[in-house]
Amino acid sequence: MTKPVYQNFINGQFLGNQSGATFAVKNPATDEVIYHVEVADEYIQNAAIKSAEKGFAHWSTLTPIERSRILLKAVNLLRTRNDELAKIEVLDTGKPWQEAECVDVQTGADVIEYYAGLAPSQVGQQQMVAEDFYYTRKEPLGICAGIGAWNYPLQIACWKSGPALAAGNALIFKPSEETPLGAIKLAEIYIEAGVPAGVFNVVQGAAEVGQWLTHSPDIAKVSFTGEVGTGKKVVASAASSLKEVTMELGGKSPLLVFDDADVSQAVSAAMLGNFYTQGEVCTNCTRIYLHKSIYQQFIEELKTRTEQNVIAGDPLDPKVNFGALISKKHQDLVMSYIDKGIAQGATLLTGGKTLSPESAPNGYFVAPTVFIDCSDDMTIVKEEIFGPVMSVLVFEDEEDVIQRANDTHLGLAAGVFSQDIKRAHRVIHKLQAGICWINSYGNSPAEMPVGGYKQSGIGRENGIETLDHYTQTKSIYVGMGNIESPF
Ligand code: NDP
Repeated sequence: MTKPVYQNFINGQFLGNQSGATFAVKNPATDEVIYHVEVADEYIQNAAIKSAEKGFAHWSTLTPIERSRILLKAVNLLRTRNDELAKIEVLDTGKPWQEAECVDVQTGADVIEYYAGLAPSQVGQQQMVAEDFYYTRKEPLGICAGIGAWNYPLQIACWKSGPALAAGNALIFKPSEETPLGAIKLAEIYIEAGVPAGVFNVVQGAAEVGQWLTHSPDIAKVSFTGEVGTGKKVVASAASSLKEVTMELGGKSPLLVFDDADVSQAVSAAMLGNFYTQGEVCTNCTRIYLHKSIYQQFIEELKTRTEQNVIAGDPLDPKVNFGALISKKHQDLVMSYIDKGIAQGATLLTGGKTLSPESAPNGYFVAPTVFIDCSDDMTIVKEEIFGPVMSVLVFEDEEDVIQRANDTHLGLAAGVFSQDIKRAHRVIHKLQAGICWINSYGNSPAEMPVGGYKQSGIGRENGIETLDHYTQTKSIYVGMGNIESPF
């Protein structure tokens, strides 16, 4: 059967490229090509800019409440089509239906809804200066670009377009070439909801299309989600036209479990923060620091629950809770880290191998893997693996574990488990990370700003402050008297 070919989405409709170049997208759970996508060539790139200029000219003149009304219709459509969209995410990413059905579309819709509600209440300021006064206006930036990673494709497209559009900007979004369909579906939904043509455009392709976006002088801001190394290239390229940047990058986050913690709860958090979305989550707590006194109890329960409760298989099966990694290349990369862990002296508590489940024998699975006997200098403890690989470390002293947890160039997230409320807050305040959890892990509601310290990012997504990052402040001084001039 011939597979569908999706074109770029420009000016409210699909637009064919001129080069004829396409790429294939595979289902990670079956290794089969599921559709093809046209690459955004120069013709598409020029059309995208013209389209966004036109979209911006119209959209930015609507009042915030008019924009809000339209965006809320899109939210409604996203929720109504939850299952259809969730299935696309499962086929593109390999993640379990169990997750996509209740998280991916919902959390995307939540963020658009949040900014649709917030935009009409965004105000400037005014102040008297003697008899004169000034006031400020929050104006949109113009054309913004969004570049997404492959782990939460639709959610990332929503998280970037929600605040960008609510503030009156136009957006050109490039999804990862591994997972291009969710953003196209979002584009169709925006049009159906009444967002004017050209306000949300989707361009497809790999790094070179991303590079064009980051370099284009017509684009005012880039919001990027991806690896630290790519993020550095994006910032360097964006500097050529002094674009604003938001960088949501990788992490190697610590979870500190103290002697008074509820151990079962901490095991739940550690499993969620390492095995959810088969380990492909940027905030994952891949360094688990256990107080010596609860170490044995923790690892026994962790081993039992990992071996008994994780069900790998066809991600569309609602019983499956552990999916396939995004690609064969990524599966090989994760396995190479596991090999390094063994070579450097860590001990496998469980996992450490690829899986070939009966219901998805050709999928790119890696078993949920836990290393014990780890030390801080091992590669598996220092580098982001972006797969289901947890490293367990031991500590005795509070100050010492804080220093070890902070000894990294990354700072995306961190967690603390302790029943002692004073200690929990004292420790979390000293951890160098932008997204922190106490007796919890991974929740990220629309209201809460998220972003990294150190090399894990620049700026924030979600929360009130992000709307400001999609506007610029215009100051207007109003003279009420005569001008005093020496001339
Ligand atoms: P990459 O950095 O490889 O790619 C991210 C996006 O950038 C893709 O769309 C990619 O295109 C594009 N791209 C690649 N090279 C360039 C370039 N030179 N200029 C502009 N764009 C470029 O990340 P992954 O897709 O592999 O995603 C995994 C990473 O994302 C992990 O490090 C993870 O921690 C991070 N991440 C961070 C999150 C956060 O909120 N902090 C959330 C989710 C993931 P293509 O893929 O088509 O080649």
